[in-house]
Amino acid sequence: MKYSASSFGDFRCAHCHNLVPSSHIVSGVNNRNHCPYCLWSFHFDLFAAGDRLSACKGQMKPIGLTMKRGRNKYRLESGGELMLIHQCIECGTLSINRLAADDHPDSVMDVFIQSLSLCHSLRDRCAREEITLLTRREMEIVSIQLFGHYEELPAFA
Ligand SMILES: [Zn+2]
Ligand SMILES: [Zn+2]
Repeated sequence: MKYSASSFGDFRCAHCHNLVPSSHIVSGVNNRNHCPYCLWSFHFDLFAAGDRLSACKGQMKPIGLTMKRGRNKYRLESGGELMLIHQCIECGTLSINRLAADDHPDSVMDVFIQSLSLCHSLRDRCAREEITLLTRREMEIVSIQLFGHYEELPAFA
């Protein structure tokens, strides 16, 4: 596969141009597929995470956060696992990806803040695909998961 070479060596993120060491790619999670600095990804997978079957290869933008559903799918649990929602800027496909231990929490928080003003069409799209975007109400949960504590952000105080 043409693209696997870059998956095993250090590479420069095509979006933020930071050098991402290969150790970051294999650390912590299976199928590490996004940059730990800007959290952008690539549209590699078609049917399942890691299958690398997509022909698209477009850049995937982190557009928001969701939470892995626990037993009670109608309730967001504070102990649930935060997940990144990516959207391909070429074809519009949405995908959900696990955060990695070395993802920068500030970047994750930035994605979350930006997602609070996501346009309606994208919100509807998420809803149709049964992806529950985290909202301002989940600010405390997100903050505690990322930073271990919650401080009201100045913009929301
Ligand atoms: Zn990057
Ligand atoms: Zn795509």
